[in-house]
Amino acid sequence: MSVLSSVKGVQEIMRRHNLYARKGLGQNFLIDQNILTRIAESAELDKGQYVVEIGPGLGALSTELAARSRGLLCIDIDQRLETVLEETLAGFNNIRILFQDILKTDIESALTVAFQLQEIVAYKVCANIPYNITSPIIFKLLESCPLMHSAILMMQKEVAQRILAQPGSKEYGRLTIAVAYHAKVEHVLNVSRNCFYPRPEVDSAILKFIPYRQKMLAPEEEIIFKNILNIFFQQRRKIILNSLTNYFQIDKSIMEEILHTIDLDPNLRPENLALQDYITLVRAISQIPHKFY
Ligand code: SAM
Repeated sequence: MSVLSSVKGVQEIMRRHNLYARKGLGQNFLIDQNILTRIAESAELDKGQYVVEIGPGLGALSTELAARSRGLLCIDIDQRLETVLEETLAGFNNIRILFQDILKTDIESALTVAFQLQEIVAYKVCANIPYNITSPIIFKLLESCPLMHSAILMMQKEVAQRILAQPGSKEYGRLTIAVAYHAKVEHVLNVSRNCFYPRPEVDSAILKFIPYRQKMLAPEEEIIFKNILNIFFQQRRKIILNSLTNYFQIDKSIMEEILHTIDLDPNLRPENLALQDYITLVRAISQIPHKFY
């Protein structure tokens, strides 16, 4: 059992390295060995695969991932962690560490350079991410990492519930639909706040994201899709007919006609539409001559 899987062990190592946890960087370290093992197992790694870990912290999950993979690239914004990681990850020669902001990192180039690969290969992401930037991280991975095979991400439980929400529920919204557009999402595990040090104020959940290889919409249609999600969920209580006519400045009767053609009730509200309804709606709207919007 690692020293990092107990409060005492973590406190001792932080004291020796003169470190304190920075709340603004979401530094709540996982100290439950059982959860650490289950996260790493859920990534279903093999010794031929590369993994990227966002925010290794003190390295508790990193050792689990490095032991199961060909190479692990850790990216953490906090350079203060360098000496701790030198200590906790000593003995692994398949780990590379970068100290930089994940949101400003070209992950695939970084992986290629770190392991001197001839070309970028498929890889997995596995991480207990900083909760304050959960959505930007998810969309960075889903929109700018084409070779990512899958991502296992731990996040605040309420955010996970929003991602997995069903149409019609109060959690269902822009985040649910935008994520569902890019990836199949599976619930892996809920994690109690007691499994972290310092103990956060929220519980957590782990989700697995498996990106779709083929896009459902063309690039111009994706723009319409994003715009529709924005206008709909800025005014969630408005019926879709009113939001659409306002936004596209189209005569109400024309918009009503379009909605009827695709079998969508004009009186529905944004949270009643499933992803497939949005796709159908976007395709229908993209057929309207551009002078209308
Ligand atoms: N993986 C460790 C664990 O499970 O114990 C630590 C996870 S902690 C929730 C989040 C980590 O993300 C911290 O180590 C923090 O320094 C790092 N972090 C915060 N913002 C970051 C950013 N923009 N880019 C990269 N790492 C970041």
